[in-house]
Amino acid sequence: FTKPFIEAKEVLNHIENSGYEAYFVGGCVRDLLLKREIGDIDIATSAPPSVIQQIFNKVIPVGLEHGTVIVRHRHQSYEVTTFRVEGSYSDQRHPDKVEFIQTIDQDLKRRDFTINALAMDKKGDVIDLFGGRSDIENKVIQSVGNGYDRFKEDPLRIIRALRFSSQLGFHISPNTIKDMKLVKSEIENIAVERVNNEMAKLFAGDYIENGINYLSNTKVYQHLPIMNEHPDIIKLLPKNMQAIQSFGGVIALFHFLAPTISIKKWVSEWKCSNNVKNEALILNDALLQYKNCGLDRLLVYCLPSNYYQVFSELVNMIFNQIVLIDELVQIDNSLPIKSKKDLAITGDDVRGLFPQLKSGPWIGNTLTKVEHEVLSGNLKNHKIDLKDWIKWNPHVID
Ligand code: ATP
Ligand code: MG
Repeated sequence: FTKPFIEAKEVLNHIENSGYEAYFVGGCVRDLLLKREIGDIDIATSAPPSVIQQIFNKVIPVGLEHGTVIVRHRHQSYEVTTFRVEGSYSDQRHPDKVEFIQTIDQDLKRRDFTINALAMDKKGDVIDLFGGRSDIENKVIQSVGNGYDRFKEDPLRIIRALRFSSQLGFHISPNTIKDMKLVKSEIENIAVERVNNEMAKLFAGDYIENGINYLSNTKVYQHLPIMNEHPDIIKLLPKNMQAIQSFGGVIALFHFLAPTISIKKWVSEWKCSNNVKNEALILNDALLQYKNCGLDRLLVYCLPSNYYQVFSELVNMIFNQIVLIDELVQIDNSLPIKSKKDLAITGDDVRGLFPQLKSGPWIGNTLTKVEHEVLSGNLKNHKIDLKDWIKWNPHVID
């Protein structure tokens, strides 16, 4: 057992002491067997959600109708889900109804892939009804039960298969691929937010080339927003694809490779958050600036430091050049100003220089030009220098 499991075991113990069964399930068991870093620890139990809410002090009832309660223990969150079987997914989001059951066997059967259908008790004994352990050893992804039926039930599982191939570097069994291809068009019926979430994980996978190959060879991308209208877009992706940690970075890459598709369109068709949108826009500006002027001060000035990593990954993929995070930090440290607010003059100062003019957009535009001069080192950030420069270069107010 590694540390996260030692603390989580206390949660299992507490449930068992109240007279119910509890197991670690899903990705955490898989990742433990793979000696991979553990994401979050999910727990399956025979206790109904009402009991879980009673026996723990800190709970967040996130999905009671699906039997899920988040338990907070020693500042960690655990998703505790009552053993259940699911009805059909007619809204393609949630199963129509879930039925709570007494034993873990049926609960494991509803899970997507054999590698994810493992449970482990507090002693470390693994329940493996579908050969998940040997599939982990053989690095193969395959459906639990009849793949065709399982993908029909929830077509998101098709994208999940691709996502796990990208995260784990596993191959997908030929039968499962065949079933994915048969059902793939039904991906179009599922909520795009669900797809988005899995695709973001696909692009962030350590074995992204594997994931992209499957995405391309199965032609699943033909049923994803935008990619369905631009069937060649996957082929544009660079040969040296690397993990991209954020979906904003993914959009910036696609837009750079296929500029006719606007970032706005990506964001709206993929229903991305505002954060993702802003990130895509900022990264796109930075990439264009890099293409035209290389790594200059203006680029670094406009690039927030939390995007350094993804920017450096994108430059490496697109231009085959290396930009070190340290280089960006050094340039940032040498900048005379960090934002417009640091300029030694304000909009009022600018207006004061030309009392005969009405205020308008020319003030902001002038400040922007001053900002660029200061950044490029042509002008010292002193009030007098800046005012003089504007007075002697009156065209800047045009
Ligand atoms: P990660 O490490 O990325 O969290 P994970 O395997 O834990 O991977 P989750 O999406 O967190 O993946 O799901 C937790 C578990 O729930 C899965 O391992 C799987 O057993 C089950 N599961 C999740 N989504 C589905 C689905 N659409 N159909 C069937 N089972 C699913
Ligand atoms: Mg998980």
